[in-house]
Amino acid sequence: MTRAALAATAALAVALPAAPHAFAAPQPRFPAGTKAADIEVCLQPLGKVDAAVLRAVERGITGAFGFTARSLAERPLPAAAYYRPRKRHRADKILDHLVAEVVSSSGCDLVLGVTTSDISVTKDEHVDWGILGLAYIDSQVAVISTFRTRKRVSRRVSLMRTVKVATHELGHALGLDHDDSVAGCMMNDARGTVKTVDAETGVPCKHEREAIEATMGVDLPEVTAMDWAVVLGR
Ligand SMILES: [Zn+2]
Repeated sequence: MTRAALAATAALAVALPAAPHAFAAPQPRFPAGTKAADIEVCLQPLGKVDAAVLRAVERGITGAFGFTARSLAERPLPAAAYYRPRKRHRADKILDHLVAEVVSSSGCDLVLGVTTSDISVTKDEHVDWGILGLAYIDSQVAVISTFRTRKRVSRRVSLMRTVKVATHELGHALGLDHDDSVAGCMMNDARGTVKTVDAETGVPCKHEREAIEATMGVDLPEVTAMDWAVVLGR
């Protein structure tokens, strides 16, 4: 496999039901007065995941968005997502599983699946393309894999990549599409290389934060950089 094929993020947009009033402004997702810390993001370990990875991602989510983050009890990767020809799991099937089995029962506002196993999706002419993470745009679910963030790099770099992929995918779930207008912003398109992830701050740029605030109806903290000493627990 080429280096380019070893790292990619991808986003899938799903068709949403038609709005009852086509010209009405979309309603914020949360009621007025909701604070960022009121929003609960739950990490769903799929298979065994190192607790230190989960803690770093939790702290990264809180650092980037001000949300409350916690980890749910481990559950297995869904058998329905297994793709036998490549011995890995389909990320879109994992998202569907999270929607059906975790979102409503957990009561969490957003659910982020975390796995060490390789995940993939159909991307353009590639029937089964390995990725770092996936989310449905404007949804409650995202999934990330550490399989490609930990190759040939230090544990510190691997953890930083994992946290950045998590905030990027949550950005998709919070309604953001890819945006390359400002280099280094959270929603830059990785375009098949993890180097893009390394160049990102991992926190929303001003225009990304404002877009999320409009969608959610919630003010987010003005953060310009991730506090990696806190996130990595050093
Ligand atoms: Zn993306």
